[in-house]
Amino acid sequence: MQDDRYHIVIVGGGTAGWMTAAGLVRQLPGADYAITLVESDEIGTVGVGEATLPHIKLFNDMLGLDEAQFMRETGATIKLGIEFCDWDRPGDRYIHPFGAFGEPWGGVEFQNHWLRAKANGRPVAPFQAYSYAVAAARANAFELPDENPKSIRSTYSYAYHFDAGLYAEFLRRWATGHGVARIEGQVCDISRDQASGAIAGVALKSGVSISGDLFVDCTGFRSLLLAGQFDVGWEDWTPWLPCDRALAVPCAHGGDLTPYTRATARRAGWQWRIPLQHRIGNGYIFSSTFCSQEEARETLLANLDGEALAEPRLLRFSPGRRACAWRSNCVAIGLASGFLEPLESTSIYLIQAAVIDLINLMPSPRAVREGIDPRLADEFNRLTVMQYERVRDFLVLHYIANRREGEPLWDYLRHMPIPDSLTHKLELFRARAMAPNYQYGLFARDSWLSVLIGQGIMPAGYDRLADTFDLDMLVARLDDFAGRIESSVAAMSSHADFIANYCAAEGVPA
Ligand code: FAD
Repeated sequence: MQDDRYHIVIVGGGTAGWMTAAGLVRQLPGADYAITLVESDEIGTVGVGEATLPHIKLFNDMLGLDEAQFMRETGATIKLGIEFCDWDRPGDRYIHPFGAFGEPWGGVEFQNHWLRAKANGRPVAPFQAYSYAVAAARANAFELPDENPKSIRSTYSYAYHFDAGLYAEFLRRWATGHGVARIEGQVCDISRDQASGAIAGVALKSGVSISGDLFVDCTGFRSLLLAGQFDVGWEDWTPWLPCDRALAVPCAHGGDLTPYTRATARRAGWQWRIPLQHRIGNGYIFSSTFCSQEEARETLLANLDGEALAEPRLLRFSPGRRACAWRSNCVAIGLASGFLEPLESTSIYLIQAAVIDLINLMPSPRAVREGIDPRLADEFNRLTVMQYERVRDFLVLHYIANRREGEPLWDYLRHMPIPDSLTHKLELFRARAMAPNYQYGLFARDSWLSVLIGQGIMPAGYDRLADTFDLDMLVARLDDFAGRIESSVAAMSSHADFIANYCAAEGVPA
């Protein structure tokens, strides 16, 4: 019997491939769309990517995954944010939390009230004291947020640290169980339609050929289909993000199970620490211009919580993105479309955003006969560029405001020219305490505030509407808010207990 459905072929079975397969099979009617995924056991995946953003919960919820089961099967822990150590000057630390700072009063954003109290010489707590997620992270505490919006425990959200390889396997089981056809094999040839230039099919080493109507390139840094077949340029962001290497190594646990990622600035880059249930993931992201691989290795191994569980593994990358992610009938998702260093754990989020955009812009099955409407690709590309540029500006912000004088990488970063779009955001904040608050994409206002203030950038002014409030009442309200956070966090259970009771992975000591 002839299958006249619209055929989508995903090449690559890393996190990007399986998130794409799962998202598409969940949202597209099986009567109209057939989905096939090709992956090569021989080539394998990039094998890193352990920290996420809260959005991933929405993705998992869209699939209908059971949270406790997913956490158990991926060795997951909770992430309430990222602790940045030594980024301004050695010894400094702040957390970029998942959640709000304070609350808006009288329609005026919280930071303005705090700045006004400070400007009037009132003794207020540091900005970080007004975030529930910061307080809970510092206390190694966690409970699921309260759904009642009036509760102070509703003011934070959370993400996960997990084993990305196990997550891809989990999604593979789920997606194949819901109708995705999986083919193991290595693509060695790609055929194009002579007239339209569109990809017609891929051929595997085994001799098997797979034809399709739409091809999703999830082949990682190789970008076998998009970059390999189409003349798509590369926008290089090395001048703003000079780190181009990572050494990654897992180690044994050596202390408390912290519910946050740590990013510690080092002489020529920064080191991540990501606690999973069964181990800690670590890595040194560094610039090969300013640091040898040997020095990076020594630095990494000298700064582990416990015994190294493997030899450090080197990964090379270039920061930037493909000039477009969708060309003809080929859409690149994941590392095949671009890469930004994992300072804010954004890659898996960018995959998720691309999958959702692709679902929304998916050509109708009629495209088999009529061709793909080019406006779909234009819109996908516009959204992708916007996502990447917003993340880029946020990452660059972490670097430029450093005061690590005398260290060549950090001296360079302090003085380099920055993107105009970031200059604009900085000027608005410096003048009036205004921070971006995107409805779409990353990052929300509280994220910007945490890093701007965390890096020591303080505005000269604030929203004048804040002046309408009685100052004594305002200070009392600030104190009350910080006090409520403190007492509520003190009554929470520990992160370790939460994991043990909710989702302990098999074989992991409780
Ligand atoms: P890959 O994992 O490389 O998968 C590529 C797939 O394509 C594989 O299945 C491979 O077999 C297949 N393939 C390739 N060629 C062929 C072929 N010829 N035929 C058939 N199949 C083929 N992201 C985060 O969100 N958080 C983090 O903390 C984080 N940390 C990172 C740290 C580092 C150092 C790096 C480099 C990345 C990090 N990332 C992180 C990014 C994250 O790892 C990736 O975004 C994510 O794993 C998706 O990768 P991918 O699926 O695009 O590519």
